[in-house]
Amino acid sequence: MIMSLCNRCADVYEEDQAVIIKRVDQDQRIKEPCMICNYGGYDYDVEHIEKNATVNK
Ligand SMILES: [Zn+2]
Repeated sequence: MIMSLCNRCADVYEEDQAVIIKRVDQDQRIKEPCMICNYGGYDYDVEHIEKNATVNK
């Protein structure tokens, strides 16, 4: 899903191994309010990689 994230919140997602995150538009210059903290950030495509197949802990 597409989320607007500032650098700090994007970092949190980047460190989360269950999530793939990438910039939607590398050339985006206008900052959007971060969906988490409302700070200025960019649009990211955030995908959770939890497929029911391998959830055995
Ligand atoms: Zn944020």
